[in-house]
Amino acid sequence: MRDRYVALKIDVDTFAGTRDGVPNILEDLESFGVKGTFYFSMGPDNSGKAIRRIFTRPGFLKKMLRTNAPSVYGIRTMLYGTLLPPPMIASSFPEILRATELRGHEAGVHCWDHVEWHDHLQSFPKHRTALEIGQACSLFEDIMRHRPFSTAAPGWTVTADSLEIQDAMELSYCSDSRGESPFYPVVGGRPFKTLQIPTTLPTADEILGENGINSSNIHEFYLNSLKEGLNVITIHAELEGNAIRPSFVRMLKLFRNAGIRFVTLSEAASEASGALPCRLVTGTVPGRAGNMAIQGEIVG
Ligand SMILES: [Zn+2]
Repeated sequence: MRDRYVALKIDVDTFAGTRDGVPNILEDLESFGVKGTFYFSMGPDNSGKAIRRIFTRPGFLKKMLRTNAPSVYGIRTMLYGTLLPPPMIASSFPEILRATELRGHEAGVHCWDHVEWHDHLQSFPKHRTALEIGQACSLFEDIMRHRPFSTAAPGWTVTADSLEIQDAMELSYCSDSRGESPFYPVVGGRPFKTLQIPTTLPTADEILGENGINSSNIHEFYLNSLKEGLNVITIHAELEGNAIRPSFVRMLKLFRNAGIRFVTLSEAASEASGALPCRLVTGTVPGRAGNMAIQGEIVG
């Protein structure tokens, strides 16, 4: 069998996830000698506003209850932006952001406001999309002392505008979609030049509680699902770094024992010289409410 290797994409969505989950993940990665790629939410934590999805997205309430969201995210986080003022994330923990790179990991930009992007990107005028990305990248540069080389959109939500702005920023690659292998996105016949490295496996919150998968065996699901070549697993600071941290450690141990190699997304990008243009389509995946960007067929 050809080599199976894994890139860990670590999404950091919330204030509490940055404060508690990132240090936990750093500790766990270090004990297994694994390097990962962190994507930070830079601006306000408006997680409480996500509650409105209960009324607009079928399946969201079911997911919140199935994944026991109140205990995962904590009551404070679920009130940020509604009953409690939204705390600013990255500027509250600059040393935590810097710690990721100091310890040899990669860091990039997830977003300015996770909830705004996820719920409203499709109706943003272009200047608003540029503002969300620009604010996030400018603060990232202040904290990290260099420009970001990569971004990863919240909820795998993109528009032609967001891809165009990312192209203009000359990023090395982005990780905005679900799919099978690295590709160059084509939307409505329009090609974009920034390499996309898609998430290839479902996230824990999409599969926990379904098909007999629970926090005690999810690590086996992931090992059994690895295909030859590159696999990209998105984990969350709030979940793998906190609520299901023991499951994450079991996965790291199982992968190590199975001889699975870890790469960063930059390493994956540098090995993606044969990437082809593919349609980027809108679709859904089991276990997650709402639409997202998915790699479609090869163009040309
Ligand atoms: Zn996210």
